[in-house]
Amino acid sequence: MININKLTKYFEDNQVFSNVSLHIEKGQIISLIGPSGSGKSTFLRCLNLLEEPTDGTVIIDNISLSDRKNSIAKVRQKMGMVFQSFNLYSHMTMLENLCIAPVKLLGKDPEHAVHKATELLQMVGLGEKLHSFPDELSGGQQQRAAIARCLTMEPEIILFDEPTSALDPTMVSEVLAVIRKLAKEGLTMIIVTHEMEFARNISTRVLYMDEGGIYEDGSPEQIFDRPQREKTQAFIHRIRSMRYHITSKDFDLYELQGEMQAFCEKHWIPKKVTGYVLLLAEEILLIQSDYSDIWINLYYSEKDGNVELKTESSGPQVNPLEEGVLEDDIGLKIITGACESVDYSYEEGKNVLKLKVKAG
Ligand code: ADP
Ligand code: MG
Repeated sequence: MININKLTKYFEDNQVFSNVSLHIEKGQIISLIGPSGSGKSTFLRCLNLLEEPTDGTVIIDNISLSDRKNSIAKVRQKMGMVFQSFNLYSHMTMLENLCIAPVKLLGKDPEHAVHKATELLQMVGLGEKLHSFPDELSGGQQQRAAIARCLTMEPEIILFDEPTSALDPTMVSEVLAVIRKLAKEGLTMIIVTHEMEFARNISTRVLYMDEGGIYEDGSPEQIFDRPQREKTQAFIHRIRSMRYHITSKDFDLYELQGEMQAFCEKHWIPKKVTGYVLLLAEEILLIQSDYSDIWINLYYSEKDGNVELKTESSGPQVNPLEEGVLEDDIGLKIITGACESVDYSYEEGKNVLKLKVKAG
């Protein structure tokens, strides 16, 4: 249904994404997620020609978007878009808002358009609001009307750009319910959203956008439960992190612990867990053999509350936690006592220790 080949977009010298290639089948429900500024909106806007791509091609149902002259109207009709702000005409009633495009752009008979608009407004739960003006409706009702208006053009594809992010939290679910209903009817949809539970439940496929392109592409199970790549994992688990570099044996332990303490306070990490973190940092640094290049990383997952401490030290392969490596094993006992799990690996000339800190 949609074939995207090497799509690239720059704003002047600023690259938003490059060489994005995707094939989207009819009926797929795609969630597009990713950090703010990663190019999700620009990507959608390039698909329906609100923005001109810098390079690459988009073919929708055998119509190439590069043939701009004849395709804009055709593409716009095939592909509706719903925005964060509902963009209803404030001086028109709901019925008028829904009839204007089919009558003016598609040349539909006005009576037929009113009939169809009434049906659509009923479908999104606004059967009692046919003659209301936008400012008489709540945000959730206005967004449902905007979705109904999009359907008056009988699109085959609908693009949603954060359809619930301008709404009061109490109104999010009524809009999501309408989108869910459309998904069941076999429309092809691409939805940019921050509602992760919704994305997981509704989508047939999830695209994670980052680093100037589609960074990871998979089923909802893959992206939400087993993301394969680092940035996807950090995004899904809402991981916050800090790091500290040590270059000599005379490093400033108090400064390091002070920064860790501040990080823990900032993220409301329980006092007991913070205590474990400070203790672990101290003990793990006592048992290093080479202090010329050690990175200490502290990670906190806002999603599940997990805290992890990771050290990366350059040098020959040695696992300080292996039995027999240390002269006395008091440090080792302290470390294992404050951790849920300990994992050692040697990666690219670095000894990597991952300590999953005990929950409080
Ligand atoms: P997202 O929707 O993922 O938050 P956007 O597509 O809005 O990201 O923006 C991607 C990047 O493109 C950002 O760095 C943004 O500043 C830039 N950008 C978006 N629209 C324009 C524009 N019209 N002119 C210049 N830069 C833009
Ligand atoms: Mg956006």
